[in-house]
Amino acid sequence: MSISENLKKIKSKLPADVTLVAVSKTKPIDSIMEAYNAGQRIFGENKIQEMVEKHEQMPKDIQWHMIGHVQRNKVKYMAPFVSLIHGVENFKVLKEIDKQAKKYNRVIDCLLQIKIAEEDSKFGMNSLDAKTILESNELKDLNHINIVGVMGMATFTEDTKQIEKEFKTLKNIFEELKNIQSKNCHLKTISMGMSGDYDLAISCGSTMVRIGSSIFGERNYSH
Ligand SMILES: *Cc1c(COP(=O)(O)O)cnc(C)c1O
Repeated sequence: MSISENLKKIKSKLPADVTLVAVSKTKPIDSIMEAYNAGQRIFGENKIQEMVEKHEQMPKDIQWHMIGHVQRNKVKYMAPFVSLIHGVENFKVLKEIDKQAKKYNRVIDCLLQIKIAEEDSKFGMNSLDAKTILESNELKDLNHINIVGVMGMATFTEDTKQIEKEFKTLKNIFEELKNIQSKNCHLKTISMGMSGDYDLAISCGSTMVRIGSSIFGERNYSH
């Protein structure tokens, strides 16, 4: 099936209140344009440099999401245009995003990445870290960021019970955190679910799914 057919099929299955992030990492402009021409406007990348290059070459009504690990020294390159940063792992990163957003007179939406997987290789903070950030006085000084939700990645496993358990954990953490009121914290988004597990993620409360290979085909990392 073509990219536009894949997109159409996936979108027909998504509830209206679930946002689709088309994960275009490693994929060429041609492929992303095919999705764009089929109506997709939100794309996710996991490398800042690659996202900057694609942003320069592509239509300016695209909303670019940074879904990967955020290197602090590279935040400045995406600050002029990034629409949502999913992978905020600590307060230092938030502070840097705030500093760079200020230069462009922007307020950048962010998600706190929560570690729900048992694998050590996955990034993220625990629920207490998140609570501490949201309740801190330092957060109130950051006028150029807005925390709009949480993001998580489940363990890479065939065991759907395990994945379901992790998604439910994230949903519970979200429910707990969303009662915290602060001027730059308005939790409404739960970013969870990828090509292999987005149905399950949605049934566990996801409001934003990040889908790559089911739209664009398998990625080739050999080059
Ligand atoms: C690559 C990636 C995805 C998409 O993965 P697929 O299995 O291709 O859908 C989603 N989220 C993150 C954080 C990723 O790095």
